[in-house]
Amino acid sequence: MVRNLSEQHSLISNWISELRDVEVQNDRMRFRRNLERLGEVMAYEISKTLPFQEKEIQTPLGIAGAKVIKDQPVLATILRAGLPFHQGLLNFFDRADNAFISAYRKHRKDGSFDIRLDYISCPEIENRILVISDPMLATGSSLVKTIQFLKEEGKPKEMHVVTAIACTVGIEYVKRAEPLVTIWCGDIDDELTAKGYIVPGLGDAGDLAYGVKVQM
Ligand code: URA
Repeated sequence: MVRNLSEQHSLISNWISELRDVEVQNDRMRFRRNLERLGEVMAYEISKTLPFQEKEIQTPLGIAGAKVIKDQPVLATILRAGLPFHQGLLNFFDRADNAFISAYRKHRKDGSFDIRLDYISCPEIENRILVISDPMLATGSSLVKTIQFLKEEGKPKEMHVVTAIACTVGIEYVKRAEPLVTIWCGDIDDELTAKGYIVPGLGDAGDLAYGVKVQM
């Protein structure tokens, strides 16, 4: 299932337009904060689909009936671009456990690249709700590799992928490889460059958040 959150008018469209804007992007703090805000609102949207349980709460004046989230999710992200987005999700799912994976593109001289994964820090994910954030869902190959990498640690009962901008090609790739995943997008673009960048997209999310890296 794919949920495109820009289909309805909301502040999400404002934040996405600032993330895309070459002028506004120069403000790195605003770029990171917009990703974080997007993560917060996505957490709120996802929470509407999660199981809740009833609970009685002692207030100073009596007993209140309440509904609280039943299972804390595991929030996973891909270093480094995912960090501000992850922080937004964690601001709202503030009792969640967290997983971190390093994935990077190892470029060849002809511009093609392999996805390399080499670091994972992961809590128990067996039978848990897994929310994986990656601000840019481009080809989908690093995301699918990450999901497979995580599934070696345990089998989640539910998986959500959260992304700021997704490309249609990447969405189809993830849907084919992992049909049970729900994909949450801030917006959807149709084009990819030969180097795997989304068009119009926003550029390199990691560089914009943290500074331009040296190509490895
Ligand atoms: N990663 C990015 O940061 N930007 C893209 O367009 C694609 C992948």
